[in-house]
Amino acid sequence: MSTLPPASPSPERAPRLTVIGTGYLGATHAVAMAYLGFEVLGVDIDQRKVDLLNEGTVPFFEPGLPEKLDEALASGRLRFTTDLDEAAEFGDVHFVCVGTPQQMGSEAADLRFVDSAFTELARRITRKVLLVGKSTVPIGTAERLTTLVQEISPLGAELEVAWNPEFLREGFAVQDTLHPDRLVFGVTSAWAEDRLRAAFEPILAEGTPLIVTDLATAELVKSAANSFLATKISYINAMSEVCEATGADVIRLAEALGLDERIGSKFLKPGLGFGGGCLPKDIRSFKHRAEELGIGEAVAFLGEVDAINVRRRLRTVALIRQVAGGDLMGVRVAALGAAFKPDSDDVRDAPALDVARMLYLEGAIVSVYDPEASVNAHRVYPDLEYAASLDQALAGAEVTVLLTEWQEFRTADPAQMGEQVRTRTVVDTRNALDADRFRAAGWDYWALGRPHTAPVPVPVVASNRSQAAGRVVDKSADLPC
Ligand code: NAD
Repeated sequence: MSTLPPASPSPERAPRLTVIGTGYLGATHAVAMAYLGFEVLGVDIDQRKVDLLNEGTVPFFEPGLPEKLDEALASGRLRFTTDLDEAAEFGDVHFVCVGTPQQMGSEAADLRFVDSAFTELARRITRKVLLVGKSTVPIGTAERLTTLVQEISPLGAELEVAWNPEFLREGFAVQDTLHPDRLVFGVTSAWAEDRLRAAFEPILAEGTPLIVTDLATAELVKSAANSFLATKISYINAMSEVCEATGADVIRLAEALGLDERIGSKFLKPGLGFGGGCLPKDIRSFKHRAEELGIGEAVAFLGEVDAINVRRRLRTVALIRQVAGGDLMGVRVAALGAAFKPDSDDVRDAPALDVARMLYLEGAIVSVYDPEASVNAHRVYPDLEYAASLDQALAGAEVTVLLTEWQEFRTADPAQMGEQVRTRTVVDTRNALDADRFRAAGWDYWALGRPHTAPVPVPVVASNRSQAAGRVVDKSADLPC
């Protein structure tokens, strides 16, 4: 795919843009739009984030974004502020990108940040501009916000709201923002559509498909897309459970299914399941909203999708306990990965960190290593031990668990890794390691949904934990499959 900047916006049509909320989504959007040639003002309530961004530091890990931030700042087209008065004065099109986390004690989305961003902005709007939501919200939010902002704004009923859901993937955020698969504009007037077309002119000029629709459909596209992806992941993980009970091999199954082009192989990768700041809370919020609307039955299956996903974490802990001999108390575990996926430092609802925490709660001595997410992980779970390197995490490990499939782990040499650990037992929760290479290096390789094969006997295998801890590890005990 092209990485060159698409055509610049036409100066006479180009709106001045603000981006309210400069987290993973907003910072990337602000940088990308400035990079494309727009004048952009990023706004956040977090002074630290704003200062870092103005200094040229991206406050989170996203490959390629620091370079693009440097270019955008150097162009003079991008600045960041906490001053909403300045933003209201500056912007012709305002993109709201604040967080919509899950509410405490409910499956519903917490819309306080969205409501606050829209209302605080609307209070300050005195000329015709467009307010555009990019955050992921339950259906009906844009309509409700329209009423709210029109009541509050000096502009009254002339103030319009549009919705432009975002589909970027962390780890690929720059590419996805500059060259999206599609754009969706939820609008209520031709004027709003025109403003959005002007704001995305360079991207549309590349031939990017555009769907122009009403507000509710635009909101639903995002919920429906994430629900579909979550369902596909949980589907193959449900098949993994069947494999575990029958001795079938879920990797071969997924391969065979994926070759059917009606099914496709993407998102059909069995493993520890999904997490992060989007899929889990989005499917819950969607289900919750459908129940509010009296159509809960239509998406009741999402409860099952969620349950299958949560079960992966429990099944993974059960497998680790099993390979550790039935009891995790005092067992030294190297936990490789904390982020919810590779190439991200995001640990929101991260399956990796959740598993590490559960192992710790069962008494294991867990050493977590993640190439980028350790600082965030430490903030969430300070009780876990964090290693500064892969070798440090592996030192003396009795069970090694691959939890996030970073390239560093996938390409590590199993023989070298084996020299660090006490026992060459590995649980590959992401089906990301080369099982044959590990077995050939004397590792006992385990993965959910795949038949367990005994390791190739290698005389140099370090002494196993059963000797160290004085307990018997039953290496012949296989998964029930
Ligand atoms: P985030 O938590 O990283 O960022 C949210 C930012 O909004 C924070 O910096 C916070 O300080 C700021 N904020 C909160 N209230 C504010 C206010 N009133 N004014 C200005 N700033 C405010 O969240 P995120 O991951 O960027 O997600 C934002 C939204 O985008 C969510 O709805 C999410 O579901 C959606 N989304 C995220 C991604 C992703 O990959 N992260 C992808 C698509 C959609």
